[in-house]
Order: sequence, then C-alpha cells, then structure tokens
Amino acid sequence: MAARGRVHDFAVIGGGILGMSTALALQRAYSGSAVLLLEKESSAAQHQTGRNSGVIHAGVYYAPGSLKARFCKEGNRATKEFCREHDVPFDECGKLLVATNAVELERMHALVKRCGENGIDIEVLDERALREIEPNVVGVGAFLVPSTGIVSYARIAERMGELVQANGGTLLFDHPVTAISESSREVRVHTTRGAFSARYLVACAGLQSDRVSRMLGLNPDFQIIPFRGEYFLLHERHNRIVKHLIYPIPDPSLPFLGVHLTRMIDGTVTVGPNAVIAFKREGYRKSDFSLRDTVEMLAFPGFRKVIRKHFRASLTELGNSLSKRSYLRCAQKYCPQLRLDDLLPYPAGIRAQAVKRSGEVVEDFLFLRTDRSLIVCNAPSPAATSAIPISRHIVENVRAITG
Ligand SMILES: Cc1cc2nc3c(=O)[nH]c(=O)nc-3n(C[C@H](O)[C@H](O)[C@H](O)COP(=O)(O)OP(=O)(O)OC[C@H]3O[C@@H](n4cnc5c(N)ncnc54)[C@H](O)[C@@H]3O)c2cc1C
Repeated sequence: MAARGRVHDFAVIGGGILGMSTALALQRAYSGSAVLLLEKESSAAQHQTGRNSGVIHAGVYYAPGSLKARFCKEGNRATKEFCREHDVPFDECGKLLVATNAVELERMHALVKRCGENGIDIEVLDERALREIEPNVVGVGAFLVPSTGIVSYARIAERMGELVQANGGTLLFDHPVTAISESSREVRVHTTRGAFSARYLVACAGLQSDRVSRMLGLNPDFQIIPFRGEYFLLHERHNRIVKHLIYPIPDPSLPFLGVHLTRMIDGTVTVGPNAVIAFKREGYRKSDFSLRDTVEMLAFPGFRKVIRKHFRASLTELGNSLSKRSYLRCAQKYCPQLRLDDLLPYPAGIRAQAVKRSGEVVEDFLFLRTDRSLIVCNAPSPAATSAIPISRHIVENVRAITG
C-alpha cells in the first residue's frame, strides 16, 4: 500500500474528534504536508466521540486559568463556527442549572461566581422565573447559560475526516496500532496490518492513551480508569418536556456533572449519564468484562485510592445503575412528572479519566511529549467541545518539537 512505503510528515492515532481535528489542524498549519490517520475501528467516532451527551459546553465548571476553562470557552465558539461553515446541524438551546434545596442553592452561587471569573454570560432565575421558562421543572433557583448548545460530535468528526481526505490526507480504518518505535529521524508505527513511518506522531487514543504512552517507552504516573455513563431515552411523548438542557448543581467533591435531561440534536431527550466503574474499557453493556482491563485496574494503587476516597458516591452510582427506580429519582428531583415507563434503553458511553498513582483524579487536559511524539493523555469532557482549540494547542506544541 502506498501509505506504507513512504515517510509521512505526520501520523495521528485515533479517529475520534481529537484525532480528526488534529489531522485537519496539521494540514492547515503545514500546507502540503502528508498526514496519515490510523484508527483501529472500521469507522470514525466509535468510542467517546460517538457516545456522549452531544453538549457544546460553555465552560461553567472549570477552574479559572485551567486549560479546560480556556479551551471550552474558545471551543464553544469554534464548534458553532465549524458547524455553520460545514453544514453540521446544531442548536444553541441554552442550559439551566437547577438547585433543588438550600445546599444546592449555596453551591449554585459558587458556580455563578465561577462563571463571572470565566467570563461566561448567565442569567440568575428565582423559583418563579424558572417555572415560567420551564413549567415542567421544579427548583428553588436556577441559572441560565444561553451559549450552551447541542450537536452530534460523531457528525463533526466524520465531516472533519472528509475534509482531511479532501486535502490529500489518508485515513486508514481497521488499523490497530500495536507498537511504536521512535528514532532520532522518524517514528515507526506498527499496526496489525503493517508498519508506517512519519516524522512526527500525535496520539489521540482516548481510553487507550496510557497504553499508547507506554508503547513509546514512557512510564506515565497515571492510568486511564473507565467510567461508564449510562443513559435512558425519554419516551417520545416527552420530546418537548423541556426547552433547555436541565442540569443539577453538581457536588464539587465529585468529578462528574450529575444526571441531566439533554435534548439531543435529533429531537429526542435523554436522561443521564451516571458514572459507574467499567470492567472493560470499551465494553458498553453492564455485563461486559475484560480480564486484562480489570486486573490492570485493580493492581493500580491510584484506582484503589480513588475508590476509597469516593466510596459512598461509588456505591450510590452503582445502586442507580442496578435500580432503574433509583436512577429515576435523580431526574425526578427536578422533573417530578417522569415515570418509570418513560425511561427507555439507550446506549452507554465510557469516559476515559486519568487517575494518578496517588489517587488524584487528573482534572485538567494533560499532554505528554517525547522528541518526535505528542500524546493526549487526559481529554474527558468537555474535550469534544474543546476539540478545535485543543488541536491548535497540539499544533503549537508540534511546532516547538519541529523547531
Ligand atoms: C458519557 C459521556 C458523555 C460526554 N458528554 C460530553 C458532552 O456533552 N460534551 C463534551 O464536550 N464532551 C463530552 N464527553 C467527552 C467527550 O466525548 C470526549 O472528551 C471526546 O470525545 C474525546 O475525544 P477523543 O478523540 O480523545 O476520544 P475517542 O472518541 O474515544 O477516540 C479515540 C480513538 O482512538 C482509537 N484508538 C485507541 N487506541 C488505538 C490504537 N491502539 N490504534 C488505533 N486507534 C486507536 C479509538 O478506537 C478511538 O476511535 C462525554 C463523554 C462521555 C463518555
């Protein structure tokens, strides 16, 4: 195959939104360069990118000054611009964060302050104003984030892939990367279907990012812990139950946002996701199990520490996963009219969350570098929203490597 015999300028691992966006950004920054993208599945966006809530986040939650805060805000604008330019449907429907009791109201005020620090426009609503704009939602207070939107990230990734190919790039699906060797002159990427050479490598391997780092001889201080996010689809009679996305006020000590009501770009509404430990990194059913993934996870000290730290929350999440009734109660807190038979099956997603050996959850986006490679190590939510600025950041770092 032609791709095998030549030395590409850049090889990219991963056909999710970050790999596709990076391939496109490299082509734009290095006009005429030869870009090769290797993906182990038979099409784009089979993992996190095709299995998420589809929210174009505004950047409410993230620590001021963090990469997440910066890239999410920039990405909110850049994602909508990309959609407009390339005919990908999106809807700037806005999001409501709803407090249902006094503790949440206090936490809500901390988030309102954070929005100010992050430069995000919001509108604070009292109980009556909330009722007026969302008659099916109850709460003691809320705030509206008008710039939040919805989209299909799989659709964006596919569109980016088409653009990469139209610019002369090569996408090879069904090409799992099994080994990587880096010399002073090039990077050799071995797959189950032959080896490929490139001057520089960028890896956007999501749930496998720690393993790809190890292929490069790195010994990262973190491991990817897979957290399954389970959803339900609301019965179609509820497709208009809300006008906005409805989010709870998250507990700041927990790493995830809580079960929300999400209008999807296809007109349906989902409830979810929860966050339960998965025993197979890319296994989407509750019963999926991988001996390798489980043994690696249990042997990792960081996993045991993080579970110990969040033991009660982990049990609650597990309970909600095993009992549809408990899951329903999370959504009924702010949308009491929902009933058990409103919740229909919907595919789950799995978050790739890096956890350090010390048990610390890696909060921000994280990258590692060697002389000729850059690895995206931690890119959980809002990395889909942030994909375009993340790929610009990657290009800046590649420039630093290429000199
Ligand atoms: C339940 C859930 C809800 C979320 N909701 C949102 C949201 O609403 N908004 C938001 O902004 N973000 C959200 N996210 C986060 C977002 O989906 C991810 O941050 C984003 O998709 C990461 O993109 P990625 O390209 O890094 O990873 P992925 O989409 O997982 O892509 C990685 C790719 O690398 C490939 N790969 C891995 N190893 C190899 C190998 N050895 N060889 C070849 N290919 C390989 C995989 O097959 C995969 O296609 C959510 C995530 C989940 C799971």
